[in-house]
Amino acid sequence: MRVLLTGGAGYIGSHTLLKLLQDGIDVLALDNFSNSSPEVLRRVQKLTNSSFATHVGDYRAPDVLDEVFEKFRPDAVIHFAGLKAVGESNEKPLTYYAQNVSGSINLLDCMQRHGCQNIVFSSSATVYGEAQYLPYDEDHPLNPTNPYGRTKYFIEEIIRDWIASRPHASAVLLRYFNPVGADESGNIGEDPRAIPNNLLPYISQVAVGRLKELSIFGNNYETRDGTGERDYIHIDDLAAAHLAAVKYAHENHGCEAINVGTGTGITVLEMVKAFEEASGREIPFKIAERRQGDVARSFAEVSKAQRLLDWTAKRDLTDICRTAWNWQSKNPSGFEH
Ligand code: NAD
Ligand code: UDP
Repeated sequence: MRVLLTGGAGYIGSHTLLKLLQDGIDVLALDNFSNSSPEVLRRVQKLTNSSFATHVGDYRAPDVLDEVFEKFRPDAVIHFAGLKAVGESNEKPLTYYAQNVSGSINLLDCMQRHGCQNIVFSSSATVYGEAQYLPYDEDHPLNPTNPYGRTKYFIEEIIRDWIASRPHASAVLLRYFNPVGADESGNIGEDPRAIPNNLLPYISQVAVGRLKELSIFGNNYETRDGTGERDYIHIDDLAAAHLAAVKYAHENHGCEAINVGTGTGITVLEMVKAFEEASGREIPFKIAERRQGDVARSFAEVSKAQRLLDWTAKRDLTDICRTAWNWQSKNPSGFEH
């Protein structure tokens, strides 16, 4: 099978790239490095000791996509590329709709013109919005609360309509919960360009001395210890879910939304404690105001992934903190040395 990865140099793209190469799949990584470094692809090459196709360019440009499709003739696309910062999406909604929604329409159009029938799409648990019940299952009503989340929702709907019009096409919409951790090697990992928005990269940068202290956004939620609870999924498990999903898409027709999580919630304080144990470093923190738009608890119902993809998360909180620390301590400044 030949698989095109849009955004293949990003955090989730690079770990999936590694997983697919290790499985012997023929891949092409397309990226414009707007939120990643070419160094990522060099490191994946080294880790796998194999060469793979790459293309530097903007996936939204029809001529770029046409060139890639003509050259590589993919059987399937895993579509990671896009913008992902919730706060920024509130300030620049049109940029988010243009990048994420229009870009995805162009991609589907190009797939159609080149006879490519299978897509795995990076969706997010954020499409669910405020929980009406927990855990979130795939039938939970969709009510995203910010423009970023709405781009994911709209793309899901567009893909559904596209699939409905094409009897032999197939899509898997993977709704990620909270991707964290790094490859065991410590050679690739999450490397946010600005001050991290997400909890684990923030903690990692405090541990390594790049940031002074963590602000915990609220300790008066209705959770075990008052801090927010999330379903953290190890990046290696998430990469394995993509491998399973692209094989599923290749062998089936229709459109399926599938949660990718562990089914278990971890609080912010539990994460801090686990990271302190893994790193042997103290994580200074202060309690701050709640962050606007945050929910108290979020975790996944995971039986659909097991049923359709024969996939379950294998790694636990200790693996998450150990691999995140291994990556951060080996690469204190990320890919920029
Ligand atoms: P990332 O920013 O690390 O990766 C995205 C990659 O796409 C980057 O390498 C970037 O350079 C590239 N890219 C962006 N726009 C492009 C364009 N126009 N043309 C070509 N390349 C482009 O993000 P990530 O964390 O790996 O996320 C991947 C996908 O998963 C995104 O769609 C994101 O919305 C989704 N997602 C991420 C999370 C998370 O917590 N990381 C959670 C849910 C969903
Ligand atoms: N969080 C925090 N401090 C930070 C970043 C995050 O206390 O600097 C909390 C946040 O309020 C939430 C949890 O950590 O309860 C996970 O946040 P993240 O942004 O990583 O994921 P999301 O909120 O998108 O699920």
